[in-house]
Amino acid sequence: MDHTSLREAIIGAARALQKNRLGTGTAGNVSARVAQGYLITPTGMDYEALAPADIVSMDLRGRRAEGDLKPSSEWRFHQDIYAQRPDTHAIVHTHSPYATALACTRQDLPAFHYMVAGAGGASIRCAGYATYGTQELSDHALAALAGRQACLLANHGVIALGKDVGAAFKMAQLVEELARQYLLSRMLGSPVLLDEAEMDVNLEKFRDYGKH
Ligand code: 13P
Ligand code: ZN
Repeated sequence: MDHTSLREAIIGAARALQKNRLGTGTAGNVSARVAQGYLITPTGMDYEALAPADIVSMDLRGRRAEGDLKPSSEWRFHQDIYAQRPDTHAIVHTHSPYATALACTRQDLPAFHYMVAGAGGASIRCAGYATYGTQELSDHALAALAGRQACLLANHGVIALGKDVGAAFKMAQLVEELARQYLLSRMLGSPVLLDEAEMDVNLEKFRDYGKH
């Protein structure tokens, strides 16, 4: 077994889901890219009980390279994202409550707040519905993720991408926070949406935000 610290980072993020109110029980999953494929949380396992050796090593052809446990039921979209998005090195999937509530209405998260640009575009799209764990779900997710670091999954949850596990986790938190703000705003009336030109300005500013 190699990549012990990466396996520990995956377990840390999986455990942090519940602590950060991004899900309960075994909802959600976490993965990280390695040279020949990716490492992913096993399916249906209590995250508190996970040890580094329980993290499953997968190649990019749907085969388990190492590990006794079965990979997350969502290995297909993890695999397809790593295959198609070379900039992505980690993925966090959640059933975080506010974003999932929005996803159950099958609506995109529109440009109601400038921070939507933090996910890479003028909206965070909601992918079409498909049964969990299917290739169809993966196909819908990849389409919704085009040019974005996150998407909603209809009647299901969120996928967040990142350059490492910490960044993907922060992206999942951003989506949840924005969804919460959007729901609150909708309760007060009709949020005023930022236009395309203003979102382009925000997208440009985000390119070097936080760089010193
Ligand atoms: P796994 O336990 O198989 O990762 O499933 C959790 C989940 O969120 C399915 O969409
Ligand atoms: Zn799920």
